[in-house]
Amino acid sequence: MRVTCGRLWLKPKPPVPVGAVVVVNDKIIARAHNQVELLTDVTAHAEILAITAACNALGTKYLDDCTLYVTLEPCVMCAGALEHCHIKKVVWACDDPKNGFQRFGNLLHPKTEIKTGILKEECLQMLTDFFKKKR
Ligand SMILES: [Zn+2]
Repeated sequence: MRVTCGRLWLKPKPPVPVGAVVVVNDKIIARAHNQVELLTDVTAHAEILAITAACNALGTKYLDDCTLYVTLEPCVMCAGALEHCHIKKVVWACDDPKNGFQRFGNLLHPKTEIKTGILKEECLQMLTDFFKKKR
């Protein structure tokens, strides 16, 4: 927390480094990163922001030709959003046994494909480094 010129403002905490992109026809149509701390909004996960941006870019609420790539396994909230938008494929680097949706089974649309482990080592190192610094 800082006080400047009589005004009080809170310094945002560094965001957990999670990013997401939405791709269709080999083209990135949306990209986002976790903004929970910056926006003080628990729904501002990278996936949610990327879904919103992709829907806006395509002018549709369904992303059934799109793939979402994300650093970390989506949480239950994001899995619900991914289910609702009928995303074609979800790819993530690192599983999240503590907060990932898979602890509740497959919450995605039945037609959604899943691929995991892409860039896993790099992403795991980045997340590990982040949480080491935070402690
Ligand atoms: Zn989430």
